[in-house]
Amino acid sequence: MDNYKQQYGIEMYINLDHSPSVEDAIAGLDAGFECIHIDISQAKHDATDEEIITGTKKVVEAAKKTGALVEAEPHYFAGSSNVHQEVINYEEIKKTFSTPEGAKAFVEATGIDTYAAAIGNLHGHYPLPKVLDLDLLRRIRAAIDCNISLHGGSGTPAHYFVEAVKIGVTKVNINSDMRIAFRNTLEQVLAQNKTEYAVVKLMDKVINEVQKVVESKIDMFGSSGRAKP
Ligand SMILES: [Zn+2]
Repeated sequence: MDNYKQQYGIEMYINLDHSPSVEDAIAGLDAGFECIHIDISQAKHDATDEEIITGTKKVVEAAKKTGALVEAEPHYFAGSSNVHQEVINYEEIKKTFSTPEGAKAFVEATGIDTYAAAIGNLHGHYPLPKVLDLDLLRRIRAAIDCNISLHGGSGTPAHYFVEAVKIGVTKVNINSDMRIAFRNTLEQVLAQNKTEYAVVKLMDKVINEVQKVVESKIDMFGSSGRAKP
């Protein structure tokens, strides 16, 4: 990261996504990560509210030493960063949505910098496009003062993000859309170059396709050209 910062001369931060325990989050702080996501319920889906709040508070306290931003959510967040074949059962998913009252209580109890909201976003890519509840997002935005993040951004129609950014989302996590570009392009170049065993020589095209996805998201989020020198 430090090398890249020097090379490109712009601000960059490194994020520890979904650290499953307080110990892992603190290891990330010690290693110099500027953003720490502590996700206690990811490792333990049935963690109690008290366990989650207590663990998250410990990370918030530890992060004061380095100034890192701490992100968390009050309960387990659905999906996994992969390509899913099943349709999304929104009636089930809705039960895990954030509420403005729940968000406010969690932010106040923990002192986190970034609240990971659940408004229809879920990890992974699904056969049908995702649907975000922007009205709920507006109400969450009005209830809390800290940053809001949206995990599980892959496979979401662009207009939702354009609106979400206007409402005040400052961090969107995308993974599966990049993984899909990586794998599909890799399969394509391998099929086209059956006698090449130095696969590293085929990677330029793969990297370019992933880069296109990243650039399209940066544009979609209105972040293009905004990194400070
Ligand atoms: Zn995530």
